[in-house]
Formats: sequence, structure tokens, C-alpha cells
Amino acid sequence: CGIIGFTGELAVKNVLLEGLQALEYRGYDSAGIAFFDKDGIKTIKTTGKVMDLKNMVDQASVSEGTCGIGHTRWATHGGVTNTNSHPHTYGKVTLIHNGIIENYHELETELAATGRYPVSQTDTEIVSMLLDSLYQGDAYEAIKKAVVRLEGAYAFCILFADDPDVIYCIRNGSPLVACHSPEGSVIASDMVALIKYSKDYFVLPEEHIAKLTKNGIVVTNFNEEVVTPDMLHVNWDV
Ligand code: GLU
Repeated sequence: CGIIGFTGELAVKNVLLEGLQALEYRGYDSAGIAFFDKDGIKTIKTTGKVMDLKNMVDQASVSEGTCGIGHTRWATHGGVTNTNSHPHTYGKVTLIHNGIIENYHELETELAATGRYPVSQTDTEIVSMLLDSLYQGDAYEAIKKAVVRLEGAYAFCILFADDPDVIYCIRNGSPLVACHSPEGSVIASDMVALIKYSKDYFVLPEEHIAKLTKNGIVVTNFNEEVVTPDMLHVNWDV
């Protein structure tokens, strides 16, 4: 339902929790974050409110990571449980997802034949398994091969465990907007979560991949050509 991703100079858990709070008005049943911690990717997620998640984050012993993703879930496939909350991780892939993958059951059957089984009941986790099965060190290759297999509407933000402080994003039918500011690069499902950082933003085009690093956002098409998206500007303050 709600997506926020950040990589930059700020303590990411605060950025993600604030972003999720800005997105709360849309309604949701669970919330979670994942970020690059000292010893790898750390995930904290729960059913309930962003405030419940914040309490868990405050109690967790985590270092000050600066790159991560956050999600508020409105369950469509799989009940409202901690395990079904996003982010989902399989192997080297950790991701959040808005939307519905219509053919996840078929993909699940195929992946079971390669010895991969989900722990949740979500359509989303199947995509983390699919990406991990296709990943051989090149995130672009894995994402391009995965999306041709997906039917449905989606917006994904993806972390690869061996590609620290980078977020890859792709969407089809579900919104993603992004901006870069001196503090870092930000992506979200709704610009209300961006305007704290910049009033200049762009809509990620479909069938393009956005790669966020702290120094900027590179958008490429499926031929790996860099594309410059049209910038939009908001005039209002919050
Ligand atoms: N279909 C996914 C799920 O049920 C994502 C739902 C959403 O957009 O929040 O977990």
C-alpha cells in the first residue's frame, strides 16, 4: 500500500518511519522496514500501526544504517500476520511490493521444482524467490528476467545483499515517484513522502529500472540506456 525508500546521509530508520507516517492516511494493516545494517540487511516488521513498528525499532539494537526500504501493507494475498508483512527476503533479495501478482501460484509451483519454498502466504514473497533464482550478481539482469514473468500490477523496491546502499525499483500499474536532494535519494508510492526532501520529483516510467544511490538516481530502459525522466514540481508546503 505505502512504499518509501531512502539512501543517503541520514539515519535511514528515521527517514523510513517518517515516510511511513506520511503515507498512513491511505490505510494499512502492517508495517515494516529493512535496511543495510553493519552485518547485513536487518528487517523489522509487524502487524499493526507504524507506531508499533517504531517501538520495535527503538528497542532493537541496530547501527545507524543509511539505506533502506519501508512498507505499509494492505493485505490482498495471505492474512494479516507478522510473517506476511513486508519486506520479504529470499536468499540475497529483500523487497517490498505494492499491488498484486496474478500468476504467483504458477510461479510458486515452478520455484518449488527448484527447491525454493515460501514461508509466507503472500504473492510478494514469490517474487523475492523468483529474483533470487535469477540473480547471478547482476541486479539488472535478474530484474529484467523476472518482470517478463510477472502478471499484475506492481511497484517494487529491492535490496540485494551484496550490493550495499543501493535500491533498485520497478513498477507496472502502481505508482512510484522519486527525487534526489543533497541528503540523498528518495522513492515513494506518493509524493507526500518526498516533499520533505525536494519539491522537484519525477514519476518512474514503466518498463524502466531506477537505481538509487546516495549520489543520485539513474533510470534505464530495458536496453540499459540511461533515460532522463521529466521533472515535476510541487508548489505547496506541508
Ligand atoms: N499483494 C501484496 C500482499 O498482500 C501487497 C499488498 C499491498 O499493496 O500492500 O502482501
